[in-house]
Amino acid sequence: MFGQRLRHIRRARGLTLTELGERVGRAPSALSLLENGRREPKLSLIEALASALSVSPDELVRRQPPSRRAQLEVAFAEAQRDPVLADLGLPALRVGAKVPTDVLEHLVALQDELRRQRLKPTATPEEARAANAELRVMMSARGNYFADIEAAAADALAPVGYTGGALSQGMLLAVVNHHGFSVRYVQDLPRSARSVTDLRNRRIYLRQESLGMHTPRAVLLQTLGHFVLGHSVPADFGEFLRQRVEANYFAAAVLVPEEAAASFLRSAKQARDLAVEDLRDVFSVSYEMAAHRFTNLATHHLGVPCHFVKNDEGGIIYKAYENDGVVFPADPTGAIEGQRMCRSWSGRQVFAAADPFSPYFQYSDTPSGTYLCTALVDPGRERGFAVTLGVRYEDSRWFRGRDTTVRMKSFCPAPECCQRPPAALATRWEGMAWPSARAHSHILLALPSGSFPGVDETDVFEFLDRHAAS
Ligand SMILES: [Zn+2]
Repeated sequence: MFGQRLRHIRRARGLTLTELGERVGRAPSALSLLENGRREPKLSLIEALASALSVSPDELVRRQPPSRRAQLEVAFAEAQRDPVLADLGLPALRVGAKVPTDVLEHLVALQDELRRQRLKPTATPEEARAANAELRVMMSARGNYFADIEAAAADALAPVGYTGGALSQGMLLAVVNHHGFSVRYVQDLPRSARSVTDLRNRRIYLRQESLGMHTPRAVLLQTLGHFVLGHSVPADFGEFLRQRVEANYFAAAVLVPEEAAASFLRSAKQARDLAVEDLRDVFSVSYEMAAHRFTNLATHHLGVPCHFVKNDEGGIIYKAYENDGVVFPADPTGAIEGQRMCRSWSGRQVFAAADPFSPYFQYSDTPSGTYLCTALVDPGRERGFAVTLGVRYEDSRWFRGRDTTVRMKSFCPAPECCQRPPAALATRWEGMAWPSARAHSHILLALPSGSFPGVDETDVFEFLDRHAAS
């Protein structure tokens, strides 16, 4: 009951576990244990929580309200203090004995609906893109290194006896079990979800998948990451994105552990033979995850700033990160996803390479400097995506592929580089072509519609119904 009341009041105040944790000096994961009824609070913590939530300690520890009437009065009083509804400027109403219970039922239902509507993430495409751009600036500023998540991943690995190299399936399951979860592989997972967690029975359901960033191992750890890091239901699209980045980071940090990976990379740097594909092979992860993990560790451990891009054959960018000054194409809101990259960049050139599935190396001269870029097509189920890892020219001496003789010039974003057709070609065809555009549904669909953007809740609940009994 205490946990339920705590969660109820915390959410009514619009606070995340992290925010409440900061007010009482506790880790969000510790509060999560309290809310889930897995820990009993000490009296001093009850008092601190009550004060942080502006309620009396009695209100927190109280048992079930004695009657529906009492329950409604509590709910009404809480809603009147709710910051989510405060800016409505409604006059305060004291509910005395004369207010009929049916009127109170009606008012509380209105408050609930109003709060639900106001808390529903309603990011427009512009807001979603802005949230994404903000997140990217934050990641770039810290060299894409999150010390607290590295520590959480190291803690998760400590009890299972990991000593180096790829994480075995047995160790992986031990990590998950250590946190009180079991794993089930199923065929009928809702299409809109990568995993579904049954919090009542502490089960994580996964679909058997084999390729790309979202291997079953990665999805399992991304799911676990939300619980280890104390995430609660995201209040807005920005929080949803941040949680996703953190959970993905956690998964990569468990599969490619910091200490082992950093020591491997330091040796490779000494040998002047740094290569993402070696990181991929030593830790048995996808190329995309290896490249992404490289960006986490390169600046912090090797002093090498870098950039990462994932794009399709048409040059459309799906993910991008940099702290080496490379300039990605961006729309006026600063969004990079969905933009088309320069034709001269390695992520596009690799598709024309003799073997696009092996690393392709080139030097790229751009307005912000010269970079050594390594690109590779990571085969997906439907089509391949190119994954590029680039570094500044002065850092190329540490990398495999530095002896490449391929050198491309890029003047983008100057329109005459490649965004406009060459003049002779344009003269021949301007006004004489009518292409029918292929919609980039993937990008459009990435927009939010609900607490977990794009996830069909009905599917998820029906799925859990089917499986919870088994
Ligand atoms: Zn260009």
